[in-house]
Amino acid sequence: MSHNQESGVEALSEKYADVPRLIILKLDLQRRGITLSDAAADATCTPYYRGPEVTAFSTKETAVRPLPGPILLRDGTSVLTGPTDSTLLKPYTVDYIDGKFYVYDNGERLDEVDFSPRPEFYGKLTSRGVPMESIAWSRPQRLDLYPYRYCHYWDTREQCKFCGFFTDLKTQKQLAGDSYAKIVHPEDLFETVREAIKEPGRFSQINLTAGTDYSGEVPFENEVKRYVEVLQAIGRNFKTRRFPSQLIAPAYSKQQVKRLYDETGLSSYCPDIEVWDKELFKWICPGKEKWYGRDYWIKSALDAVEIFGKGNVYTNFVAGVEFVQPHGFTSIEQALDSNFEACEYFSKNGVVYLSIVWRPGRGTGLAGQQQPPLEYYVRLIRGLVEIRKHYGLASDNDDFKHCGNHGDSDLERLN
Ligand code: SF4
Repeated sequence: MSHNQESGVEALSEKYADVPRLIILKLDLQRRGITLSDAAADATCTPYYRGPEVTAFSTKETAVRPLPGPILLRDGTSVLTGPTDSTLLKPYTVDYIDGKFYVYDNGERLDEVDFSPRPEFYGKLTSRGVPMESIAWSRPQRLDLYPYRYCHYWDTREQCKFCGFFTDLKTQKQLAGDSYAKIVHPEDLFETVREAIKEPGRFSQINLTAGTDYSGEVPFENEVKRYVEVLQAIGRNFKTRRFPSQLIAPAYSKQQVKRLYDETGLSSYCPDIEVWDKELFKWICPGKEKWYGRDYWIKSALDAVEIFGKGNVYTNFVAGVEFVQPHGFTSIEQALDSNFEACEYFSKNGVVYLSIVWRPGRGTGLAGQQQPPLEYYVRLIRGLVEIRKHYGLASDNDDFKHCGNHGDSDLERLN
């Protein structure tokens, strides 16, 4: 696979006229990341944009200059991306000139962009004195909650190789103070959601995820119990039985998934497969392989369709990690075949298989690995959307409004 003569956004939007240019730009902003000029960094720290001071990815630098929310493109597409190590990748630059943000590639201006504004609940405290911005983070229309700030796969060094999540609890605790506990109190979640949804028209989806805790008499029992309590607490904010929500969690038994459905108002479940190929799954996700392997993860998603219904069960994969060496694919065709096979299999069983663009993070086991070219991602999202359409599936719970992290669900807007 040669990346030497990669096509960029403009060339690919001519070649693939059925994919909007801004979606291709989104894919590449996610793939290569961004750097903010000093003017842009200052502008994103002003009251309209200022991001949360402590997140699962916080460092001492971001505590001083918090990262803003996702980028917004001119068509409303949101882009979850972030600063990149420019010695490894070639990030885009975002600059701020005469009151507007622009994205540049090698000095050439590509487009005007904006950032998601700061939600009104940031800066407020719960009645227990916990900063709400340490509990929930905002995308343009989605609220992200992380009720458990640790992943036990890291205890045995069996974390997913691409992951940089929850790796620095110590720094995060130092930054946020004593209120920053490993387990978030359900009442703090209840109050934060109550405050967040007061902002008119802002949020249309609540998302929960966390690190994995497989403890309990039956594996994952403690985690499931915690999610039930948390979802019940959040649900007190709504008059309807179900509220727009998704839980991204490990593969649970059918009984555990049923419990989540019966005892809470959760509307969608997403056990992430991360990588489809059997051997790569074992290598890249050793923790998931141990608790209980790829077949178990697949079965869990399929069983969940009987409970949540067709189209309400999702599984994300980290598009690009299938190329990492020494065991990954060496050709684009191989990787596309593998992912289209997965999408076909999940789609015919009522599960939505969604891509997330992989960017090798500095603190992860895959730092320094080469990413596939942009054209791979363009071909990938076209193929995924076609397959799901064929099976009558739409990613309503994970579309551009409810999530914004998937180029394929952005493209699905055209259907
Ligand atoms: S399950 Fe994998 S991706 Fe999720 S927090 Fe743990 S190591 Fe990271």
